[in-house]
Amino acid sequence: MAQMLTNHLDPPAFTLNPTPLKNFAVEKLQPEWHDWKWQFRNRVTSLEALKQFIPVTAEEEKAFQAAGKNLPFAITPYYLDLINPLNVHDAIRKTVIPRMAEFTTTAAEMVDPCGEDGSMVAPGLVHRYPDRVLFLVNETCSVYCRYCTRSRLVGSGKHEVDFSAAYEYLRNHPEVRDVLISGGDPLVMSDDKLEGIIQNLRAIPSIEIVRIGTKIPVVLPQRITDELVNRLKKYHPFFMSIHFLHPDEITPEVEAACNKLADAGISTFSQTVLLKGVNDDPAVMKTLMQKLLKLRVRPYYIYQCDPVQGTSHFRTSIAKGLEIMEHLRGHTTGYAIPTYVVDAPGGGGKIPVSPDYIVSREPGKTVLRNYKGDVYEYLEEA
Ligand SMILES: *Cc1c(COP(=O)(O)O)cnc(C)c1O
Repeated sequence: MAQMLTNHLDPPAFTLNPTPLKNFAVEKLQPEWHDWKWQFRNRVTSLEALKQFIPVTAEEEKAFQAAGKNLPFAITPYYLDLINPLNVHDAIRKTVIPRMAEFTTTAAEMVDPCGEDGSMVAPGLVHRYPDRVLFLVNETCSVYCRYCTRSRLVGSGKHEVDFSAAYEYLRNHPEVRDVLISGGDPLVMSDDKLEGIIQNLRAIPSIEIVRIGTKIPVVLPQRITDELVNRLKKYHPFFMSIHFLHPDEITPEVEAACNKLADAGISTFSQTVLLKGVNDDPAVMKTLMQKLLKLRVRPYYIYQCDPVQGTSHFRTSIAKGLEIMEHLRGHTTGYAIPTYVVDAPGGGGKIPVSPDYIVSREPGKTVLRNYKGDVYEYLEEA
C-alpha cells in the first residue's frame, strides 16, 4: 500500500518506519476522548510524538528541527486522527505540519500583514473600523495553523495582559457597538475566564453585540459543552465566527458542536482561508460551503491568504479566488456563498473582491452577464 502510494508522490516522500504506526483506535473508545481537557493535555507537540502516528517526510523533519522557529507545533489527538497518515497530500496535514518553505520569506511578506499592531489602542484591542473592534485576549491555540496571520503573537507564551485599559477605552468610545473576541483562540480559556471577559464587555452599555472568532469547534469540538453553551447564551446577541478549511473537517463531532451552538441561538458564521493544495478548488470549496450550511453555519468570508512571512507555499493568485467565487454564485444556494476578501496589507482592512458581472455601463444602460455567461441589458429611464 505504502509502496504503491509512494510511486505517485512528489518527492520528498516518506519511508515507512519499521515499527507499525500508532493510531487512536483504543483512545477513541475511552470516555476521556470526549473530554476537551484530555484532548488539550494530550496534544501532540513534538516531532518524536508525531512520528509515532504519521510517517514524516525528510523535509518535514528538517522543518521541525530548524532553529529559530517562532510558531510552535501542536495538534489535538482528535484533529490528528482526521489525517490520512499515508497521504502526504492530505489537506489537513498540509495545514498543520511544518514545512521548510516556512523559512522562506518573499519580498511582499510581512510580520504583521494586516497592520494590527499599528491600530492597537490598548493592549489586545485593535480599533480599525468606525463601530467595531477586534479584541485579542490570548496567544494560545489548541492547534497551530502553519499559515497563521498572527504567527507574530501566537504561542509566544507571553504573560497574561491586564485588559483594564481595553475596557476603559471601550467605556470612553461609545461608538464601538461590536466586539470581536479573538486571539490565539479564546475558547482554549476556561469557562470562568471567558465568561469574565464577556461580562466585562456586557457591563459597557454601548456594546450591542459580542462575537468570538475561533477554530475550536473544528479542531477540538469536544470543547463545545452544554455548560459552555448555556453560559454563552446568556449574553445574546452573541455570535461565533468559526474557521473551517476543508470538507474533511466536517465530522459527526463537529456536527454535534455546531448543532449545540445553533440550538442555543448562537448564530455561527464561517471563515475560510484560501490555501494552495488545500482548498483552492471550486468543487472542494462548494462542497465545504454546502456542508456548512447544513450545519447552520452561514458561510461568511473566504480570505485571500495574508502575506505573512513564511506562507508563500500556501498563497494562490487572486484569480484563483475569483474563479472559485464564479463557481459558487448561481450554482448553489445564495446562503452558501461567502464574501471573498483581501485584508489589505498595511492595515486597510477587509476589501471584498468579486467576479465582475457588469459587462458595460453607459447612461441609461447597464449590460450584465449572469452565472451562465448569458448577457442581459438593464435600462434605466432618466
Ligand atoms: C475582521 C475585523 C473586524 C470585523 O470585521 P467584520 O467585517 O465586521 O466581520 C474588526 N476589526 C478588525 C481589525 C478586523 O480585522
